Amino acid sequence: MKKVAILGATGLVGQRFVQFLSGHPFFKISALAASDNSAGKKYSQAVQWHLNIPIPDEVSQMEVQRCEPNIECDYVFSALPSDIAGPIEDSFVRAGYTVFSNAASHRLDQDVPLVVPEVNLDHLRLLDSQKTPGKIVTNPNCSTIGLVMALKPILDSFGLERIHVVTMQAISGAGYPGVASLDILDNVIPYIKNEEEKMMVEPKKILGTLNGEQIKYATFDIQAQCNRVPVQDGHMLSVFVETSQRVDLEKIVKAFDDFRPLNKLSLPTAPERPVIYLPDQRSPQPKLHRDLGNGMSVTVGRVVLISEKRFRFVALVHNTIRGAAGCALLNGEAYEVLRNR
Ligand code: NAP
Repeated sequence: MKKVAILGATGLVGQRFVQFLSGHPFFKISALAASDNSAGKKYSQAVQWHLNIPIPDEVSQMEVQRCEPNIECDYVFSALPSDIAGPIEDSFVRAGYTVFSNAASHRLDQDVPLVVPEVNLDHLRLLDSQKTPGKIVTNPNCSTIGLVMALKPILDSFGLERIHVVTMQAISGAGYPGVASLDILDNVIPYIKNEEEKMMVEPKKILGTLNGEQIKYATFDIQAQCNRVPVQDGHMLSVFVETSQRVDLEKIVKAFDDFRPLNKLSLPTAPERPVIYLPDQRSPQPKLHRDLGNGMSVTVGRVVLISEKRFRFVALVHNTIRGAAGCALLNGEAYEVLRNR
């Protein structure tokens, strides 16, 4: 069993880490850390618990620590806000810890892998070029995770030239307390700070190719427009795609259905079907489908051909599970399995 610490353990993503790491077959939670406001309190007193399961017994009486690199653990899962994550994660890496981060701070660093295991697990080899005592692996922005998981089978089967994506993003994506209720109830906000910029660059790194010690970014054209909508959990994406080769409906659905790249690794948190195609015209929907695959599957539907090389579809990703904690945890599981081979 490897001991793991959660930084930002009281936040919305931190709570998902607690949920998925409790009773985990590889990892045991040895420390929970958050801001100075929470440090010194029992976890159950410090956290504003938002999940519809009780706080797991193994953590509820644990004392919350400061995010300082003197914590007893083998691996660190970070759910810190991006504006403070950078220097704190750096201090852990300098002290020799291996960090799996959700934050944006290091995602585009040249020697830092930005990984969704089903899509670009080979990018973990970038870790060899990190010269620090510890290592850092990042996962993408929540909407980007849903997008690249749906696009990877399309890229492999038909090539990608152009992507236009419009998102409808849940309020939990803004953390807690997040967006004020008076701003979001009965409303749609057509702007999420820094989100479109992330969605227009992260997919090019993830779907790029590892060339020696560098990632050669993918060259497709990508545009994104991001909206906040009054949904609790689950980001929806309307995606317009232009491919290099001709497509037809049957082949697109087959590419989604056949996409099972991790099955041989038997990772505990990996869903059996990373991309689930739902043929019903009214699918996917956040309320009905965000928890498929234990929240780790991306659901797709509404596949409509526009011309022989263009089509559109809708994708749904659970933002705090697959779009955050679940992806970081899967990175940790893959790292652990691969280094023990
Ligand atoms: P959140 O609910 O606001 O939680 C933030 C956490 O960070 C809390 O545990 C908080 O502790 C801690 N924290 C705040 N300031 C700190 C400081 N100065 N020092 C140490 N700890 C501090 O945010 P979240 O939604 O969980 O997001 C966490 C990270 O994941 C962010 O980088 C976010 O961009 C990323 N992410 C989020 C989502 C999502 O859907 N929410 C998806 C993908 C990625 P206290 O409780 O003590 O204040």
